[in-house]
Amino acid sequence: MYLKRLDIKGFKSFADNTELQLNPGLNIVVGPNGCGKSNIVDAIRWVLGETSIRQLRGQKNEDVIFNGSDKKKALGMAFVELVIDNSDHSLPLDFSEITLGRKVHRSGESEFYLNKSRVRLKDISDLLSGSGVGKKGYAIISQGELEEVLNGQALDRRLMLEEAAGVIKYRQQRDEVKKR
Ligand code: ATP
Ligand code: MG
Repeated sequence: MYLKRLDIKGFKSFADNTELQLNPGLNIVVGPNGCGKSNIVDAIRWVLGETSIRQLRGQKNEDVIFNGSDKKKALGMAFVELVIDNSDHSLPLDFSEITLGRKVHRSGESEFYLNKSRVRLKDISDLLSGSGVGKKGYAIISQGELEEVLNGQALDRRLMLEEAAGVIKYRQQRDEVKKR
């Protein structure tokens, strides 16, 4: 499984329709400070179902919508679409290509899409759970989080590693059994 394409329209600094083609393996985005590199990562987090606006470096939901610049008017809607190559069937769906989308209007709630059909956020989370991708995984490590890993207490670091290795649920189950 790998991220094949990202389409961004009206999300944060991306006023114009922007299409990013990615290849298997390492892809590197370079550019000056403030040009929108982290916004690309925010767009990926958002479409994967991030619900905490603070994780996306905003304060309110509409902060993800392009809010205007010297030359361009603010937009009313943000849309991000992500195309995943699933030819190894890492994600449990019988498609070799999976499209995830999310849209939000200034006035409203987010809409989620799976292969262009409207779905609930829960459908996206269920699909991604256990895949290492998505809200709870450490597939995405932000600038701040790296500092947390480096400067963190021993126990916090251990918990992060357990989460990343997928064993934390067993610790939780063990703790529950011990309580009985
Ligand atoms: P650095 O190298 O410093 O990490 P970066 O390339 O990661 O920079 P980002 O943090 O992705 O930069 O982008 C920041 C820019 O995005 C700022 O100029 C900010 O004004 C702009 N931005 C954020 N939200 C919006 C929005 N809703 N509408 C328009 N522009 C926005
Ligand atoms: Mg950045």
